Amino acid sequence: MAKHRVAVIGIGKISIDQHLPVIEKSADFELAATVSQRGVSVGSTPSFKTAAELYKAMPDVNAVSICTPPGVRHALVREALDAGRHVLMEKPPTATISELGDLIAHGQRSGKVLFATWHSQYNAAVDRVRDILAADGVRAVRIDWRENVRKWHPGQDWVWEPGGFGVCDPGINAMSIFTKIMPMPVFIDSATLTTPSNRQTPVDVQIKFKTGEAHGPELSAHFNWLEGDDEVWTITIVTGKGQNLRLKNGGAVLEAGGVETVNEKPEEYERIYERFAQLLASGKSDVEDAPLRLISDAFFVGRRETGPSFEW
Ligand code: NAP
Repeated sequence: MAKHRVAVIGIGKISIDQHLPVIEKSADFELAATVSQRGVSVGSTPSFKTAAELYKAMPDVNAVSICTPPGVRHALVREALDAGRHVLMEKPPTATISELGDLIAHGQRSGKVLFATWHSQYNAAVDRVRDILAADGVRAVRIDWRENVRKWHPGQDWVWEPGGFGVCDPGINAMSIFTKIMPMPVFIDSATLTTPSNRQTPVDVQIKFKTGEAHGPELSAHFNWLEGDDEVWTITIVTGKGQNLRLKNGGAVLEAGGVETVNEKPEEYERIYERFAQLLASGKSDVEDAPLRLISDAFFVGRRETGPSFEW
């Protein structure tokens, strides 16, 4: 089978760290072009300043991966679908829920595949925990998601602008695991969002969740963006049967009762592109909105606090 010819739109950190190297070794995709507003190119691969130029020049590019910040994604996805291309969207898919709803509807109308990636979900340990909780139920979940913004988003001012999500940009990765493993719907009970005095988005977020059950499990999360160089991406769980589970390293490692039971080399983006190939083969879209809804609700009902100013 011929490989899908994919173009990557937005050549920033995640494109360079993951998309380009994973496409390079993919059995299903080949890099046909890039779109970079700054004119960044990749070897001799054709590079365009705008997606419109790409669509005009290269009708044989059948898919695009949109790796820009979420604020500009809605217009880019619509443009790609209208140009008859299948679309992979980096997370968070859009800045607002209504934009995402519009893209789902527009994707259906276009007959093209629309795929919202939630990279943290692509871990064997996450699937294992989902299965355990489906069988045993859940008594408590504690999410600790702390990292260094200067390491993971160096100089990216968009993360501090309205619609840039702040620490909820990594926090939504935890939400994507949480909504996948929980055997029942979860809601925001309360939240506190602390924003640096000179910025627009939070640097620290505390959340209490609830379920529809009166005596539901104890559920909470803490996201922080001023951690040292060693990130903490951990979800600690007590199952309904009292077993202690710990998902570590962003979902790559599972400890059960203190014993490591799953520890796989993270291959999230390899699995994302495998999934995209499956979706293209079946003609089906895959757009999950639960993580975006939870984060959006935290912004809706959260208490606001102001913290010290932040400089890079
Ligand atoms: P980034 O380094 O700032 O790169 C984003 C790129 O998008 C820019 O370099 C720019 O590339 C392009 N772009 C187009 N319109 C833009 C605009 N209005 N403002 C800024 N850039 C614009 O960001 P990133 O870390 O790669 O993040 C991109 C997406 O991937 C985000 O949704 C993020 O949540 C997600 N993600 C990031 C990470 C991570 O570790 N940083 C991990 C997983 C997912 P051109 O100049 O080439 O057009």
